[in-house]
Amino acid sequence: MFVPIVIYGTHVWRRRLGWVAGYCPICRMAQRFRLFKVQVVRHFFYLPIAPGRTAGHEVRCQRCGQTMETLIDTYPDVTRDRHLPIEQLIDLTCPTVWEQLEERQAMYERYCLGVMSADERDALLAEPLRLIEPELDARASGLHSDRWTTPFALAAVGGAVYLTYYAGHLPRHVRQEAGWALALSSIVIIALLVSGDARRYAKRKLLPRIAPALAAYQPTRHDIKTILDRFRRRGLTVGKRLRPRDVMAAVGRVPEEG
Ligand SMILES: [Zn+2]
Repeated sequence: MFVPIVIYGTHVWRRRLGWVAGYCPICRMAQRFRLFKVQVVRHFFYLPIAPGRTAGHEVRCQRCGQTMETLIDTYPDVTRDRHLPIEQLIDLTCPTVWEQLEERQAMYERYCLGVMSADERDALLAEPLRLIEPELDARASGLHSDRWTTPFALAAVGGAVYLTYYAGHLPRHVRQEAGWALALSSIVIIALLVSGDARRYAKRKLLPRIAPALAAYQPTRHDIKTILDRFRRRGLTVGKRLRPRDVMAAVGRVPEEG
C-alpha cells in the first residue's frame, strides 16, 4: 500500500493549558476538562518553520474522552492542579456550570413528562452526533490501516511472493495469470477496506462513547435517520459515513438507566 509522506504542509498542534470544569453533554454532568490551545503550524519534514496560528481552544472530558470546541473567555481562571476537587475546580474555573446543569435537568424532566417539543428532542439527539464530527472527519481524511486491512494486505503480499518464487512447479502462464488475478483483486479489496475504515472506527470508538447520551432520549431509527440525512445534506462526514443501524446498534448496547 502506498503511503504518501508529507514533506511540507500544516500540522495541528494542541498545547495543554491546564484544567477547567464544564458541562459534558456526553456524560450529562459537570466534569473535569483538560484545556488545549489549538495551533496550526507550518512544517517542513514535521519540523515547525513558522510561529503557529491559533485556531481556537478545545476541552477534553477526562471521563468520556470527548473533545469539544470552547471559548477561552468563558473561564474566569485555569488551573495547573489536576487533582483539585471537582467542587473547587468548578468554583475557580466555571461557576456557571450549576446553571447549565439545572437547565439540562429541567429539559430531561420535560422529556420524562412527555412535554418536550420535537425540535428540542431532535437538538438533544443531534448534539452528540455533531460532537464526533471532527474526529470522524479527521479519520476519514487520513489513510489508515486497521485490523482488517493489514492482515489482508500481508496475505496478498505473501501470496504474490509465493507465486513468484516458490510455485515453480506450476506452468509459467498459470503463475502469471494467478499473479495478475491476485494483484487486481487485492487492490479492489484493500480499496473497499480503506473506504470503510472511518465507519468501522466510528462503530468501534466513537459510537460506544456517545451512545449513553443518545439512549437517555430513546431515539427511534427514524429519529436517527432524519438527523443523519440532515448532516449529509450539510456535507458532514458523520452524515456521509454513518448508517442509522450503526447508531441504533450502539444505543441498544447501553444498559438501561436504573
Ligand atoms: Zn464526558
